[in-house]
Amino acid sequence: MLDLQKIREDFPILTREVNGKPLVYFDNAATSQTPQVVIDAIVDYYSNYNANIHRGVHTLSQEATDAYEMARKKVQKHFNATHTHEIILTSGTTHSINIIATGFTSLLSEGDEIIVSALEHHSNIVPWQMLCERTGAILKVIPMNEDGELVMDVYDQLLSNSTKLVFTNHISNALGTINPIEEIIEKAHNVGAAVLIDGAQACPHVKPDVQALDVDFYVASAHKLCGPTGVGMLYGKEEWLNKLPPYQGGGEMIEQVTFEKTTYAGLPHKFEAGTPNICGGIAFGVALDYMNSIGFDNIAAYENELLEYGTQKLLEIEGLKIYGTSKNKTSVISFNLDNIHPYDVGTIVDKLGIAVRTGHHCAQPIMDFYKIPGTVRASFSFYNTKEEIDALVESVKKAKMMLS
Ligand SMILES: *Cc1c(COP(=O)(O)O)cnc(C)c1O
Repeated sequence: MLDLQKIREDFPILTREVNGKPLVYFDNAATSQTPQVVIDAIVDYYSNYNANIHRGVHTLSQEATDAYEMARKKVQKHFNATHTHEIILTSGTTHSINIIATGFTSLLSEGDEIIVSALEHHSNIVPWQMLCERTGAILKVIPMNEDGELVMDVYDQLLSNSTKLVFTNHISNALGTINPIEEIIEKAHNVGAAVLIDGAQACPHVKPDVQALDVDFYVASAHKLCGPTGVGMLYGKEEWLNKLPPYQGGGEMIEQVTFEKTTYAGLPHKFEAGTPNICGGIAFGVALDYMNSIGFDNIAAYENELLEYGTQKLLEIEGLKIYGTSKNKTSVISFNLDNIHPYDVGTIVDKLGIAVRTGHHCAQPIMDFYKIPGTVRASFSFYNTKEEIDALVESVKKAKMMLS
């Protein structure tokens, strides 16, 4: 099992205090904390080999290029992509999704259909609405049930020969539901549709194998995986990435430029215009190494324990309701105290040093489904402890006393 004390020592921020209390960080679904090895990699880059990549013959530029391309290889290996050039390094999940949504503009016609799920993050709704506006394609939604699960019977009915694309997250950030993506992908492929999976919330908990999934596109952000902000990945099957046009024009993404005609660089550079987040990419690779050294099986088993413990303890509080009760979920607990606004709970809990998120979690349609303004969301990571959950439970009891 995990050596919690040692793991916690890897994260310098976990020793700080907030409002005179030890920090309890339960906002991991929004962003994860950063281990010292990743911080060291960032300092090392700027201290020793900061240079622009791919275009210099000088030593620093070559060192930076090698480190950046090594990071791409680490991402490829982690996700088990067939080719290194199927990994595009982006600024994050949102950027990755927009590359695909924009690219499909030329591939869709009026009346084509795109299916998304009711559990989506706004970053996985808005780009498709914009794509539909540009092309006349129609957006269809797989509905959810009270437990926060997708209603798969309706998915079956929505699929047809008009379906060109299916988009869903792997794990819901608002509720923690693990979606049946294997089934979603297989059924989409049966009608000839491509599938993009938003893995931003899944990658901190599981290690996806894009070949086994046979998924067309898979996207994630480094900052939810112990890496820095402003960097992420887009995996695309080679044939798809070759078919899609570039997203941005600029340096790095060209083969030859004249004023008459420009030819584009091959993969992955075709989708990487301009100077990328070099340091961030390198640190992303280090973060993946760190997570793998702990092991995703160990992480999942321990987080499951935290989820069960937290669920049981929180439900002992009278009037507390948990949203997202699928049997298949990760360590996210979204809840409300009856008649008390989530924001008020979050404020009192923060006074006691505990960081939770309150609001709609970039997933307003889910809140509309439950007819609530938002929830309090506690999301646990492998560096959290049961003692911290006890502190949360005490703070929520206190909030309830003060507010009701
Ligand atoms: C966080 C998150 C995003 C957005 O990620 P960014 O890093 O902000 O681009 C998208 N989808 C899900 C499910 C998320 O959890």
